Amino acid sequence: MLVSTSDLADIAEKVRAGQRLTFEDGLRLYRSPDIHTLGELASLVRERLHGRTSYYVVNRHINYTNYCVLRCRFCSFYRAYPREDPKDGACPGEPDAAGDPSGGYELSIEQIVEQARQAADRGATEVHIVGGLHPKLPFEYYLDICRQIRRACPQLHIKAFTAIEIIHFGRIAKPRLTVREVLERLREAGLGSLPGGGAEIFDDRVHDEAFRGKVGQQGWFDVHRAAHELGIFSNATMLYGHVETVEERLRHLAKLREHQDWATGSAAAHFNCIVPLSFVPLGSDLAALPGPTGLDDLRTLAICRLMLDNFPHVKAFWPMHSPKLAQVSLNWGVDDFDGTVAYYDVTRREGDGTTRQELTVDQIRRLIRETGGVPLERDALYRPVAPTNSSGGR
Ligand code: SF4
Repeated sequence: MLVSTSDLADIAEKVRAGQRLTFEDGLRLYRSPDIHTLGELASLVRERLHGRTSYYVVNRHINYTNYCVLRCRFCSFYRAYPREDPKDGACPGEPDAAGDPSGGYELSIEQIVEQARQAADRGATEVHIVGGLHPKLPFEYYLDICRQIRRACPQLHIKAFTAIEIIHFGRIAKPRLTVREVLERLREAGLGSLPGGGAEIFDDRVHDEAFRGKVGQQGWFDVHRAAHELGIFSNATMLYGHVETVEERLRHLAKLREHQDWATGSAAAHFNCIVPLSFVPLGSDLAALPGPTGLDDLRTLAICRLMLDNFPHVKAFWPMHSPKLAQVSLNWGVDDFDGTVAYYDVTRREGDGTTRQELTVDQIRRLIRETGGVPLERDALYRPVAPTNSSGGR
């Protein structure tokens, strides 16, 4: 029972009545000391949509390269590509069998397909593939990733390439291609859907301070708009807890909500979920920042659920939140625990050498059940997956 003395009583009434919240409502939710009412409201909306069901996916992340032409300040993943010697055109530090001393790498198509095959053998239904903006790899490499995985593991859904990678492919293709043409080629090759990465915070000030040079909001929305027009589903993200204010977070959410209104009304596909990403300072140029607290994480996940009334799902990506916080968030508006993941190199909460980030299906199901939830395996598009008897990583 929500207490009437809460400073959120009027917002609670709007949520109960199914009314859309305003920017000012969002600000008050961020500033209110009444965190219990916030959590209860987010849970109410989540249960209205999904009951006690909590979704998870059996998947595998594949990061094909960490070489990147950009230097986003919040990023601990990228490595500079070894420079060519201008005298003879050789690449002295080019990765070889011994590896690049900087920790840079690029995977061959064979290595990528082998990782996908291993995932499929362990019951995965999805591979999630992203990487840096490699200065040398041709567009054909990315088409080949999709084609070869499709050929070797037709049962796997390929969710791949963030908006900035899609734009990069259009620039390196010969001849150059539009965003729409890149997406059409990738879909022909086997692409199933797009992840939501690269959105960060849609704000020019934050962009200049934390990820200057990276595609801004217009480029990000251009890619997702084209995808939705083509019938390709995607996710959305918000990387929070670095140099942005809560007002900037709320404006970011408002832009996503506006796009989703258009997509659900006029396009052939839309965002499946919002993935609020908790900034991990370790190893980045912004390492001096403290990063979000646990309460900020919970508050932000709950506010995403309440503000994004037209998003079907809110995901807690546990490698960035920690499995413990992701578990608690299932009673704070979150309905999707993401997946088994297995390997994740983009963010390492525990520091270098911790790219192996895996939860088994049994662990995920136990974490969900402890919250009073009902675990349901889903595929990449949130369709239920029939239980199997396979074990291994599941
Ligand atoms: S966030 Fe992406 S684009 Fe920016 S430096 Fe890292 S890998 Fe490159």
